[in-house]
Amino acid sequence: MIPIRAIQHYAYCPHRWGLLYQEGMWAENAFTVQGDLLHERVHREKLLAKSGAGLSFGGMSLYSGTRGIYGKADLIELVRDRDGVSIAGLPGRYLVRLIEYKPTSPKTEVHPADRLQVYAQYCCARELFGERVEAYFYFADTRRRIALSFGDEDEAVLLRVLEEIRTAQENGGIPPIRIQKGCSGCSMADRCMPRVSGIGVRDAIRGCL
Ligand code: SF4
Repeated sequence: MIPIRAIQHYAYCPHRWGLLYQEGMWAENAFTVQGDLLHERVHREKLLAKSGAGLSFGGMSLYSGTRGIYGKADLIELVRDRDGVSIAGLPGRYLVRLIEYKPTSPKTEVHPADRLQVYAQYCCARELFGERVEAYFYFADTRRRIALSFGDEDEAVLLRVLEEIRTAQENGGIPPIRIQKGCSGCSMADRCMPRVSGIGVRDAIRGCL
């Protein structure tokens, strides 16, 4: 089983994924701390709210047996809906809303790695709850929610990334550095030092041995 967090890290940068999951490294920066604090708040309790309109749960575990992935949803809202799905242990029928919290809204468009993260959660939620699932980002800085819709391309990307991760796990080692715009916000930049001749510090040191 592959954690959805690892899928997001791999899609952001395979080298970063390798440092985190193959080498067990971790480094924080302002972005990771901001994200952790936000998620800590929504994951603190399971049942966050209950009203006539429905219920909300924080930190609900999700998994997909068919894809071999698992993770947690920041927020799941079960909205009463007569066309919705039945949920074990609850009366009535519900529309399931999956909400992923992000500290800041993107300047242009949502990062593909974040979109893939939510698509993976969405696949799990559909497998667990059925067809009536909606997915959203919630941006804490603007307090805005945006709806996502997914298609065949998202499925193809997820399957490709899962295959790449499984191959990388089997082969061991760390995928090559991929210099990109995201390097400036990457918490592993000091360890990776992507601009040292475009190769990692480890590789640079290995090359001197
Ligand atoms: S600094 Fe850039 S190349 Fe290095 S791990 Fe981070 S995103 Fe990847």
